[in-house]
Amino acid sequence: MAAPKDYYQVLEVDEKADQATIKKAYHRLARKYHPDVSGKAGEEKFKEINEAYEALSDPKKRAEYDRLRRSYAERQSRRRGPGFERVSYDWSPEDFEGFGSIFEDLFTGGGFGTRQSVEVPEEVVQLTLEQVMMGTTVNLTVNEVHPCVVCHGRDRSCPRCGGVGQVSEPRRFDVSIPPGVEDGAVLRVGEHARLKVEVAPHPRFRRQGDNLLGQLLVAVPVAAVGGDVSVQPLVGAPVMVTIPRHTNHGRVLRLKGMGLPHRGTSIKGDMLLEVALRFPEPFNEQDDRLYHELRHQHQEVGGEIHAPR
Ligand SMILES: [Zn+2]
Repeated sequence: MAAPKDYYQVLEVDEKADQATIKKAYHRLARKYHPDVSGKAGEEKFKEINEAYEALSDPKKRAEYDRLRRSYAERQSRRRGPGFERVSYDWSPEDFEGFGSIFEDLFTGGGFGTRQSVEVPEEVVQLTLEQVMMGTTVNLTVNEVHPCVVCHGRDRSCPRCGGVGQVSEPRRFDVSIPPGVEDGAVLRVGEHARLKVEVAPHPRFRRQGDNLLGQLLVAVPVAAVGGDVSVQPLVGAPVMVTIPRHTNHGRVLRLKGMGLPHRGTSIKGDMLLEVALRFPEPFNEQDDRLYHELRHQHQEVGGEIHAPR
């Protein structure tokens, strides 16, 4: 674990500073480094100041932060032997993982933190395979944090931000999901949020890249002499598929271009149908008679064993 960032140093206050002192220091520094005043150069510093103030202005968060900081320092001095008190402050919030929900709040709560990996909220949307085929639009509302345009953090009595200098506002997005989106894909939404796509299992098809895999039930007589069967694709009207004569169980029929679109291209995958033979049911007397005749013409009885696929 790296050292926690020294929020006290950032705000230029003593560790024992009371809340009023911290607040005063924050306002002074926020004015000094506000991007409107100091431009791009002050931006990072401004974020840092806000991050520090978020941690130290809330007594609960401050207590937790102090505790982490102390335990880190203790661990360091144990590791390096007595008398070693220097601590380097190159910490990142990931180090706090597992330290409880307070710091999750701190770094995911729309504050002005600087490290994307932890603060970015992630929404999850579950899509059907049909939606993957056609593409779709998802409505999403996320909270975005903006600098306060009323006071720019300069007015403690600002009715809009209360002097914090930033406001959190819900913002609605119509997120366009492109056809062919992958399961697990993460799309960026606005400046801060991300949308993770999950594809729900489908009752008839399994996805394999851009291809759609399915099992096609074919009646034994049709497989024997060949014939057309009507097949319902993932979307759209049924199509006729020709079953070649002498089609065996397990044969895979490839329907070119009837799979999913390859994201961002006009290329389409294929539909791969594995033939599963079945007898027409119920068997009637004539069926039995005809199959008896067939049986008498063939000596082959089967009986080989193969490992299952
Ligand atoms: Zn304001």
